[in-house]
Amino acid sequence: MSDDRNSGNPAAALEAVERFLQSPPPDVPGEVVALLQATMHGRRPSLSPRLFAEAVEQAPVAISITDTAANILYANAAFTQVTGFSQADVVGHNESMLSDKSTPSIVYRTLWGRLLQQKSWNGMLVNRRKDGERYVAELTVAPVVSSGGVTTHYVGMHRDITEMFQLQQELQNQKELFDTVIDVAPAVIAVLDDNGATLLRNRAYRRLLHDLNGREPAELLLAAPNAEATDQENMPSRELRLDFPDGSTRWFVCMAVHFNARDSSADAYFSARERPYRMLVAHEVSELKRQQEEVRMNALRALVAEEELGRGLRETLTGALHQMQRPLNLLNAAVGMLERRNGGGDESLLGVLRQVRDEGSAAVETLRGCVPQELQEPLLPVNLNQLLHEALLLCTPRLLAAGIVVDWQPTVDLPLFNGHERRLRSALKQLVDNAIDAIVDANSERRELRLTTRVDGGQLALQIEDSGPGIAPELRFKVFEPFFTRKGGQHAGMGLAMVQEAVNRHYGTIDIDPACNEGCRICLRFPLLTDNYQEW
Ligand code: FAD
Repeated sequence: MSDDRNSGNPAAALEAVERFLQSPPPDVPGEVVALLQATMHGRRPSLSPRLFAEAVEQAPVAISITDTAANILYANAAFTQVTGFSQADVVGHNESMLSDKSTPSIVYRTLWGRLLQQKSWNGMLVNRRKDGERYVAELTVAPVVSSGGVTTHYVGMHRDITEMFQLQQELQNQKELFDTVIDVAPAVIAVLDDNGATLLRNRAYRRLLHDLNGREPAELLLAAPNAEATDQENMPSRELRLDFPDGSTRWFVCMAVHFNARDSSADAYFSARERPYRMLVAHEVSELKRQQEEVRMNALRALVAEEELGRGLRETLTGALHQMQRPLNLLNAAVGMLERRNGGGDESLLGVLRQVRDEGSAAVETLRGCVPQELQEPLLPVNLNQLLHEALLLCTPRLLAAGIVVDWQPTVDLPLFNGHERRLRSALKQLVDNAIDAIVDANSERRELRLTTRVDGGQLALQIEDSGPGIAPELRFKVFEPFFTRKGGQHAGMGLAMVQEAVNRHYGTIDIDPACNEGCRICLRFPLLTDNYQEW
């Protein structure tokens, strides 16, 4: 009966081990036999000693057994395979014969420190094969402690991990190369997992994170109103803006790409499961945007100047028509009186008056035909904040020259509403211009202009408040009448009438707040849901 077959019968196995130990096979080193004897004395007869010896001999790991001075007593076949040294080469020699001497001494000191505490040690060191070739060894050493608590031997197990080390190094090199390339890229780059956690952030991204006081740029960019990126879809290039804690606004062209990568958790070892990731790439275009904005503002300035010229001409001609209409009316009345008194024999005077009246009427009509028409403008979604901001930019030179402090408090994310962009911008600029005039006229130390926007009860509310002399209660309605002006000179008094008309066209209201005691507060309100404005 073989020893293998005795493994299920402890009594028979014990007997077999005893038999084995009485006459051990010649190829089993004496020290291994001694070890087996120690095991037997520990009364743990789970395997036959021959099986045990064969298992050690045939194990695919380089195993060596030493005395307490690390002199090799036994080395298995894998040891010969890994090191190139045969049993005969190594038995009786110290394990240090494998040492390449490039391993730092602290490694050996730590190894021996553990062994002297009767603890095992695991680590890497560089060994040298019989042929002189170096290899990286992953070594585990452990003490063999007798039942009396004395270390009698050491067992060493090691394997050649040079290839794995090389692969690890290559992987590390590739990662460093990748990290360097990603890091020096001027674009903002981040990789997010399916929970939105940021797994990779390049230097530009980290700088942005710092500028945002620790708020994740990826989170803010992907949550931007026009980002339109879902968890599954790629986001094509989008121009997005970020508002920073220092009050600045910066612009980015941003895109997000989805990709799947192998899951590295143990659960996915056989299933080749994949996890979705998102790569976010953003280029800052604030400078470009600033230049575009400058070009746009210059075009806007030219457009507004042209509009103001047209409006001035319209006002002047309308004023002239208004002035001419009065004597014409008198003439008409005189002709009427003379006609009623007909028979008085003053036909020649009547004829002259009729001629003057008709020529005057013809001149008025000619002049009326010269009044420039207002441009047709489409109804489009407009952003009141944007228009007010542009009106302020257009007035900036005047504001600076007058030393006016502007307190601009727009409500962020103000809804859009359908409106005539140019008409509204002109109206807002007119209101800002009026406020500047009032502040300059007051010539007081306090020179403030406050602008606010908000949503209030389904309406867009806008306030323009100045620190000027204010408007007397009796004039609060009159100022909106055409040709009413307190400024004199070139002012035709059509500014607020034009604003009133623009507001009316948008079904809005304009009021002068009676509760405002210092200066003047103009309040405008526009309904949000109106889409049936008349085209003009
Ligand atoms: P050493 O003088 O041998 O040792 C360096 C340091 O270890 C010194 O600080 C010294 O004080 C301490 N030290 C050495 N021997 C002992 C001891 N018996 N008791 C207490 N402290 C001691 N080394 C390898 O390079 N490659 C191996 O594959 C390898 N396998 C080993 C397997 C086993 C089972 C054991 C017990 C040791 C093994 N060693 C191995 C360690 C080896 O014995 C040497 O310590 C090491 O190679 C350094 O050799 P050295 O001649 O440079 O210095």
